[in-house]
Amino acid sequence: MHAVINPATEEIVAKVAATSAEEADRAIARAHAAFDSWRAVAPGDRANLLRRFSDVVREHVEELALLEVKNCGHTIGNARWEANNVANVLNYYAGAPERLFGQQIPVPGGVDITFKEPIGVVGVIVPWNFPMPIAAWGFAPALAAGCTVVLKPAELTPLTAIRLGELALAAGIPEDVFIVLPGKGSVVGQRFVDNPLVRKVVFTGSTSVGAAVMAGCAAQIKPVTLELGGKSANIIFADADIEKAAATAPYGVFDNAGQDCCARSRILVQRSVLDRFMGLLEAAVKGVVVGDPALEQTEMGPLISRAQHDTVSSYVPSDAPIAFQGSCPSGPGYWFAPTVLAPVAPDARAFREEIFGPVVVVTAFEDEADAISLANDSEFGLSGSIWTRDVGRALRVARGVESGNLSVNSHSSVRYWTPFGGFKRSGLGRELGPDALDAFTETKNVFLSTED
Ligand code: NAD
Repeated sequence: MHAVINPATEEIVAKVAATSAEEADRAIARAHAAFDSWRAVAPGDRANLLRRFSDVVREHVEELALLEVKNCGHTIGNARWEANNVANVLNYYAGAPERLFGQQIPVPGGVDITFKEPIGVVGVIVPWNFPMPIAAWGFAPALAAGCTVVLKPAELTPLTAIRLGELALAAGIPEDVFIVLPGKGSVVGQRFVDNPLVRKVVFTGSTSVGAAVMAGCAAQIKPVTLELGGKSANIIFADADIEKAAATAPYGVFDNAGQDCCARSRILVQRSVLDRFMGLLEAAVKGVVVGDPALEQTEMGPLISRAQHDTVSSYVPSDAPIAFQGSCPSGPGYWFAPTVLAPVAPDARAFREEIFGPVVVVTAFEDEADAISLANDSEFGLSGSIWTRDVGRALRVARGVESGNLSVNSHSSVRYWTPFGGFKRSGLGRELGPDALDAFTETKNVFLSTED
């Protein structure tokens, strides 16, 4: 049994049984047995089942959101967005089964056609920071492609995934097509890697575990999608709308208490506007409303666990260059005030490592080339923002930064219509967008001779 803790109160909210390796193998065998009939469901019928699943999730948005507030300390506003995101992603990929096109390729001596065949059982491994959306980005396109899915939520945050499994059945998704298996990564997650009946692994989590998952999958030539860590840059040029850049910068990094792989945790500012920017940023950081995540006005909740609080604290030792901090509640709960470190040199640990908490570093740059080089001075490459009024510069810098998801004059990263994923040690492959089903299908080429 694993005790699930409310990070805002430190109270136990549920106890969840951990799936054993044997139980995981039996579930994988059931998902494998269900594969042939699920892939044979007519495309229009599979589409309707996914639409129904989306509708049922939509009917339960408030329940799912409240569960996430309790389990993760997410603000109620964010949690509602996350539950709606699951419904939106299911609805978007409900359009895919009827559009899973192959090609007809001109060849001599006959006709050549390709099919996109579902790959088989897909294992989806989810971290604790965004339990609902990250699960859906894996299971929705996989189910649309005709794959069956086994899903392992993070040990700390299993409650919404378990509920989504129940809602799938209530929506008419057949038994064993989508199975949720709470449990330990080293047990259940490892079975997804090692059990040969799982034909594809989608892993979101830390870069170190992702590397081990990839190495394990290599033994079976099992395809993997990896969505890993980040240390994204928020680049602010002197010609930008500095007021807007400063007012939005806290939300680009402190959303979800900084536990966001896309957090813009390195603010790079052109030196000529540094002082003005810092003055505006201080007011914005002090204005971030940190507190009870169930209240509508709250903008930032607690960290997920005591261990995460310890990790984040290690980046703010007593001699850290704290420029200013916001506020947070005291008493029970894993609270950490929004913190700005400046100036921070590129060789500092806080500049280089993913903190995954509400701590941001500010570093000055001289010119465009310097900005690109500082942004790329990272082993990660997931996300980032560019603030400038010069359209040519926006495009040059966007092309120059080694990162999968860039946003100009905004902090948008994840939109289900567009591809999402990282360069370098931030990951492998892409989720979401129009091509997501490619990760869950094999291309089969068939040649038909037309010769006598
Ligand atoms: P983690 O790597 O510790 O765990 C992620 C998942 O992997 C959990 O479900 C865990 O149980 C499982 N796991 C652990 N050991 C395993 C093993 N040996 N085999 C298979 N599965 C195993 O990560 P975390 O601490 O839960 O999440 C935080 C990390 O996730 C951060 O680094 C963050 O940047 C990253 N993240 C990335 C994205 C993205 O899309 N790129 C999104 C969210 C989080």
